[in-house]
Amino acid sequence: MLNPLVDTRDVKFVVFELLELDKMTKYPAFADFDHDTFDATIDLAEQMAVEVFFPTAEEGDKIGVKWDPVTKAVKIPEIFKPALDKYYEAGFMGLTDHPEDGGMGMPNLVGAAASEYICAANYCLGMYPGLSHGCMEMLFTHATEEQKRMYGDKIMSGEWGGTMCLTEPEAGSDVGNLKTKAVKQADGTYKITGQKIFISSGENDYYSNMIHPVLARIEGDPKGTKGISIFIVPKYLVNADGSVGAFNDVTCSGVEHKMGIHGQATSQLAFGDNGNCVGYLMGQERQGMKIMFQMMNFARNGVAIQGHGNASAAYMHAVTYAKNRYQGADVTQMLNPDAPLVTISKHPDVKRMLLWMKSHLEGQRILCYFLFKNIDMTHASSDETEKAEAQGLVEILTPICKAGCTDKGVEITSMAMQTYGGYGYCKDYPIVRYMNDSKILAIWEGTNGIQSMDLTMRKILMNKDQFNYKAMTKRMHETVAKAKGIVEDKYLELFTEGLKELDELIEMLKQQMATGKFLNLFMHGSMTVTIPKMKELVGDAKGADRDAILNDNAEAAFYTGKTLSSQFYLGSEFPKFFGRARAIKFNEGAPIKATDAVFTGALAE
Ligand SMILES: Cc1cc2nc3c(=O)[nH]c(=O)nc-3n(C[C@H](O)[C@H](O)[C@H](O)COP(=O)(O)OP(=O)(O)OC[C@H]3O[C@@H](n4cnc5c(N)ncnc54)[C@H](O)[C@@H]3O)c2cc1C
Repeated sequence: MLNPLVDTRDVKFVVFELLELDKMTKYPAFADFDHDTFDATIDLAEQMAVEVFFPTAEEGDKIGVKWDPVTKAVKIPEIFKPALDKYYEAGFMGLTDHPEDGGMGMPNLVGAAASEYICAANYCLGMYPGLSHGCMEMLFTHATEEQKRMYGDKIMSGEWGGTMCLTEPEAGSDVGNLKTKAVKQADGTYKITGQKIFISSGENDYYSNMIHPVLARIEGDPKGTKGISIFIVPKYLVNADGSVGAFNDVTCSGVEHKMGIHGQATSQLAFGDNGNCVGYLMGQERQGMKIMFQMMNFARNGVAIQGHGNASAAYMHAVTYAKNRYQGADVTQMLNPDAPLVTISKHPDVKRMLLWMKSHLEGQRILCYFLFKNIDMTHASSDETEKAEAQGLVEILTPICKAGCTDKGVEITSMAMQTYGGYGYCKDYPIVRYMNDSKILAIWEGTNGIQSMDLTMRKILMNKDQFNYKAMTKRMHETVAKAKGIVEDKYLELFTEGLKELDELIEMLKQQMATGKFLNLFMHGSMTVTIPKMKELVGDAKGADRDAILNDNAEAAFYTGKTLSSQFYLGSEFPKFFGRARAIKFNEGAPIKATDAVFTGALAE
């Protein structure tokens, strides 16, 4: 199968060789699985992505969603529907969920790999089951047994969909400022009134009912996040026998017109315009933020994979284009008018762009998959120390992966466009779509500025004894120790110097409790595995002999490619960290001193 989306050899390398997924079967939670099942599941996700999801991406983007102002209904692209059917039929919805809830109980690490394929193929389409999954998981974790079976099971089967409803016109990053109101009724239900905006999949014609988890304040409860509760608000009420009943006064007042993800039904929802919207409390009163945040943390990891997968597809397209586009002569013959044309992949600057994208994507893949493996460890392991450390890693890596992969995702898609030249800017090629779709990922699920504050303040400075940070740097030091004698000393020294610098920064910030941006620091630890393999396969061959081996032996090329991209990252990208560290240490106070008046001329308000 021709896969223009994700480097499957690298996915398998990270999952099986680096993170040693097969060893997870020693835990009772995963004892029923084996290597072949994991491998076949990843292959199935690849097939689903390439053959079912990817062919819908261009048309879905072109057609977009349509809102009817009379019926208030939203039509999603017709081409999406059979693809969604196939996704549910193949069982991807419950891949990692607990078997008691109808899931397959696979490791989240497998789920991460499967998601990367789906996101690379068409993450806009993947959001319909993605949001539904988040809602379902929230129900399975916090709802009553009756609610789980009434709503959760129907979401698992794909009959109904789910959303997450936090944002309001005046409550975006500051969720605590929301105005949606809940009034308790004599029968224990609540009357909900309010407006939510930007609600992904909010209204659509695929699912026969929508289940909205809605954040609202019960009349009389305190201001701010402490006074927020969460309610299950179905679009249609559900009869005792589980069938769809009366309309629950949830109206779509429009869809957003966006830069990208045109096939996503990003909706404005009005709850209770006619005073008839019923909500059912999930969990306890005033526990809304706690419940929603559990889901959001997992969703943030999903956004990291969206950013990574979308960028992966842009890179893969750029590589294919660069290998086939003839333009100019080889740099050694640039003054010879009779020199044969070469493909742009031979030009040093194009190689630099490709290697830049490859090195970031491979690092991201390791980091994200490592995060998901640690999520598995938090519940599979029975060793309390191991579990605590895994939890610490999950906490610190969540904002790092969310912001790191999505900010870099924007840069990678932009670099992919640069690789194409003018054709990349035109809609005949898919790079415009990848670039347009990349930006929102840095904004939703907590903007990347909010992630930066979460990382610095909550996950590091306010974390007791900086446990999370130490769990992460312990792994980094272990990696350096393992790499001794395998990776050239100059790379290890550079990285160790970076770790020392980072420790100093944390110390300084602890003194000042200031915030700073130092996301995206990680090492290409895979070199400890790739270099010995490369040496085994390529030996001491040089020049034309080496090129011949790389052309003939795909495995030799793979391990050499990975070693080179890691070296490129460490030698060419990592040193930029020292500049950033210096900037944080300099502690420039201008942003604090700047008031509204300084940003514009006298006439601007
Ligand atoms: C396409 C799309 C889909 C979405 N899907 C959903 C969904 O399904 N459900 C849902 O509930 N919401 C959804 N959202 C909403 C999204 O999560 C919010 O847009 C986001 O949280 C930011 O809120 P805001 O737009 O009000 O921006 P603001 O909060 O106004 O932020 C504007 C800028 O100010 C910065 N800022 C704000 N507060 C602070 C602070 N205290 N300190 C430092 N900087 C700050 C932000 O980082 C940002 O750069 C979606 C949005 C879009 C565009």
